[in-house]
Amino acid sequence: MTSVHELIRAAAERESAARPPQKAAGGPASHRRPIALRATGLSSCDTGLASDPWTIDRAPGYGPGASAPDPIPGDAPRQGPLPRRYTDASDEQLHDWIVAAKQQLGDRVRILGHFYQRDEIVQHADFVGDSFMLAQAAKGHPEAEAFVFCGVHFMAETADILSESSQAVVLPNLAAGCSMADMATIEQVERCWEELTGALGADAENGLQPVIPVTYMNSTAAIKAFCGRNGGIVCTSSNARTVLEWAFERGQRVVFFPDQHLGRNTAKAMGIPEELMPLWRPHLALGGNTVEQLHEARVILWNGFCSVHKRFTVQQIERARAEYPGVRVIVHPECPAAVVEAADGAGSTEYIRKEIEAASPGDVIAVGTEVNLVNRLQEQHPELTVFCLDPVVCPCSTMYRIHPAYLAWTLESLVAGSVPNRISVSEDVAGDSRVALERMLAARP
Ligand code: SF4
Repeated sequence: MTSVHELIRAAAERESAARPPQKAAGGPASHRRPIALRATGLSSCDTGLASDPWTIDRAPGYGPGASAPDPIPGDAPRQGPLPRRYTDASDEQLHDWIVAAKQQLGDRVRILGHFYQRDEIVQHADFVGDSFMLAQAAKGHPEAEAFVFCGVHFMAETADILSESSQAVVLPNLAAGCSMADMATIEQVERCWEELTGALGADAENGLQPVIPVTYMNSTAAIKAFCGRNGGIVCTSSNARTVLEWAFERGQRVVFFPDQHLGRNTAKAMGIPEELMPLWRPHLALGGNTVEQLHEARVILWNGFCSVHKRFTVQQIERARAEYPGVRVIVHPECPAAVVEAADGAGSTEYIRKEIEAASPGDVIAVGTEVNLVNRLQEQHPELTVFCLDPVVCPCSTMYRIHPAYLAWTLESLVAGSVPNRISVSEDVAGDSRVALERMLAARP
């Protein structure tokens, strides 16, 4: 199996061999370690992945990786420069500093690591999970003074909403956003709501509201709060169907933010035909729909997507089936509907993990989700062959920004008594978000 780390390093070496020699910035060359991944892949999507994250952070856009071509909002947070101590450090130094700082902080500080993080981060995490599992881990540890959230911005917001107000939630690199969450701003959502209620009326019919807002966990706190204020609810990829059923008990139709694929795949599995799921394009009047289309709609899908999961294709599944007869293909529901239909199963990260745990030795499983998670599952299950459907290694650009240098800086700052990069959700937004989150918890089967 070819190591992606080696592939990206080789690409970086080829690139640097083609350039005139430059004076080293200070630290040993080994600190230019871009990513530690193992995959069956033949190449990486962008040789820029070999650049240091502080170089990427200075450039406009999301930087190399799956989200690179997505537009980034002008007001997206930017990370200030890190001290040279961190940018010049070797991998080994960073590792040792993280371990030492963590030891000094003890139970006062907990590190939360998302499933999609690189291994150099996950190895230091006290809890590893998806965004909601990590927010619940924060809620379950009232003794901790701070949580260092190694994920992206909306996840740290959710952890702040669910944890005690005295507890700090810290995002090691402020530039770690989420391109999907950025595809729906609160201003756009409020405008959409105004237009929808204008077109559909605001009065209930047979006890059902004209439209119920539903937002995926992968959205800003402001949108979760909007749903809380307007009779709506939050969902995860595990409970999206239960949440839609909850919404249809209360409304004639649903408007689903921001991931069109999760909304479409879930509604299709419930038997709703695609023609009753118009797409809402936020830059067009009525989202680009007619009043009649909106009246007929059952699920109005926001035009957002995850750039990591959008990369999976039916052709990749066909190739996997041709190369490995008998392969089982499982994908995440953020993938396009045609991919979900061509797969043998689709479900959340938890579903994928359980499927792999339930497999028999010798089984071959092709997975359509983020490559760090897939490679870790392969490492945990050497008795199986588990590989990522996408032969090109292309991690989530924003998750990728949590580099060990940022974690070391964050932990050492906490040791020194300062709290860097605190993510704070205002109490009114947090209160309304909690309403939507509590509805979700109550709707759980
Ligand atoms: S994997 Fe997709 S949804 Fe998750 S943080 Fe990255 S862009 Fe956002």
